[in-house]
Amino acid sequence: MIDLSVLKGSSFVVLGLARSGLATVRALVAAGIDYVAWDDNTATRDAASHAGVKLADPASIDWSRFTALIISPGIPNRLPKPHAAAEAARAAGKKIICDVELLAVAQPESRIVGVTGTNGKSTTTALIGHILTSAGVTCEVGGNIGRGALDLAPLGVGGVYVLELSSYQLELLDTFRAHVAVWLNITPDHIDRHGDMAGYVAAKEHIFDRQVPGDCAVIGVDDDHSRAVHKKMAGRYRIAAPPVAFDRPVIGGISFRAGRLIDADGYSANFSDVPTLPGDHNAQNAACAFVACRWLRVSREEIMKGLKTYPGLPHRQERVATVGDVIYVNDSKATNADATAHALSSYRDIYWIIGGQAKEGGVAPLAPYFERIRHAFLIGEATDLFAGQLEGKLAYTRCGDLQSAVAAAHELSQSDAKGPAVVLLSPACASWDQWKSYEHRGDAFRTMARALPGAQSLGRAA
Ligand code: ADP
Repeated sequence: MIDLSVLKGSSFVVLGLARSGLATVRALVAAGIDYVAWDDNTATRDAASHAGVKLADPASIDWSRFTALIISPGIPNRLPKPHAAAEAARAAGKKIICDVELLAVAQPESRIVGVTGTNGKSTTTALIGHILTSAGVTCEVGGNIGRGALDLAPLGVGGVYVLELSSYQLELLDTFRAHVAVWLNITPDHIDRHGDMAGYVAAKEHIFDRQVPGDCAVIGVDDDHSRAVHKKMAGRYRIAAPPVAFDRPVIGGISFRAGRLIDADGYSANFSDVPTLPGDHNAQNAACAFVACRWLRVSREEIMKGLKTYPGLPHRQERVATVGDVIYVNDSKATNADATAHALSSYRDIYWIIGGQAKEGGVAPLAPYFERIRHAFLIGEATDLFAGQLEGKLAYTRCGDLQSAVAAAHELSQSDAKGPAVVLLSPACASWDQWKSYEHRGDAFRTMARALPGAQSLGRAA
């Protein structure tokens, strides 16, 4: 846990008592710092109160005695409509911050790698953490992934915090500085919270705020908005801004071409055979991780070793089992067609399990990948919609639920017996019709695949 005693004398209002809010309260209590906390959900509040959290409704507190509002990034503080506590804090002239800001204040001697982007944040954050750890650099990984910022261990001089940062968190920083800021990509998302695309880009650009000469801004330049951001950052005084590009050379940066990572000095390494990082999108993640770790003085050889031993994250094209030549891949995190497109483009001879709660457009945008698919197995609420969209284009079976789909995909993939193939759960749908979360759905798929006759487990234990 991060020691917040440097903040002694301040007092805070904590709003939102999920994972990061509770970690914040624990850290404040441990440092003897005055606070009150709140959550709009009665059950969450009751559980917190039971655990000894000091509650007070921010609608009825005297804001003059508090230093700042520490808000859960998921709670709107501006758009589409600010939470009443955010309005009250602002009216009283108080700062609105998040837990990451407190980490930065409390650990000024450590270096920070911040990772943002619309897609690939968790993968790249975990990847950088893995490379640094395997190269013997003391680091902690957290933020929007895994542990909350204040649950991380204090590292002090020489330590590196690798933090996944969402646009929501980036808007809630005040003194935080990323020694290395990684910007992967940006496509329309979360527009309700940021007003429009310009607002979304501006929120993410906060990752570069307060960078100083000697710092580094690693920027993926494969979309128009990111190219514009790179142009701006390349003009900042003595901040390195290496660009990262797919399929074309870039000056002073790194590119991924013909299966190889090629850096600014002409160093080139094969990156076509890492099963835990399949697909072109993961080449972008790997290339960004490469540049960030180089900036932290990890050798190229150590970086390539780390890339090749990366264990992968659960539910993101996670290889869970094999049955003969057939590999079972859990991509339950793919809850929309965009994410599923990445998985479909990474394999051939696919037995595809899809369905759940459909997103707008369904699977129609995935038509360019249908030639890679041998058969589709439909589950959940989206069955009728998807059957209509696949009719005449792709053979499919209505399976109802995941267990039946896994059994049917197993049977067909084994009886087809045409060599290597993939049973892929990449549902292009939310999970809430039949599951608690995408993790719950992916965990069930992993267990089912491993229980098939003749199955050999791959990857992580659970
Ligand atoms: P995030 O944390 O930003 O949601 P993840 O690393 O969890 O990203 O990946 C989620 C999904 O996004 C992956 O399953 C994949 O389909 C897609 N994805 C990952 N990296 C990228 C990338 N660099 N560009 C585009 N899509 C990506």
